[in-house]
Amino acid sequence: MLSDTPMRMTKQRKVILERLRSVTSHPTADEMYEMVRQDLPKISLGTVYRNLELMSEEGVVLKIDVGGSKKRFDGNTSTHYHLRCLNCGRVDDLHMEPVKGVEAEAAILSGYQVMTHSLEVRGLCPACGKKNTKSN
Ligand SMILES: [Zn+2]
Ligand SMILES: [Zn+2]
Repeated sequence: MLSDTPMRMTKQRKVILERLRSVTSHPTADEMYEMVRQDLPKISLGTVYRNLELMSEEGVVLKIDVGGSKKRFDGNTSTHYHLRCLNCGRVDDLHMEPVKGVEAEAAILSGYQVMTHSLEVRGLCPACGKKNTKSN
């Protein structure tokens, strides 16, 4: 295949990945599109979306897919925990050591080859927590 599409995909993919790895805000596909457009003004939302989905399938990026809310993406694929605000939907990294022994125990109990695990803590972020206290 000598079409120019694979080359273009590679460049787009590189830009998307660099942008995603430069932030810790766990952007949605729409937010990624806004960022990537600064480098590649002609890119479409669909292309950004497809690349993000593909990279998450390949394990290059992490997809944070929680029921009811928009998918978010994370350039950090190492085991780490997240905090999610139930009000505004923001996702932050929780700077806490991943609990040791979870994966080994899960492997023993299930027979799975365990690669990683995740934990999401849900509540109100500091900004939403403040608003909540004021209105009550
Ligand atoms: Zn919030
Ligand atoms: Zn994260």
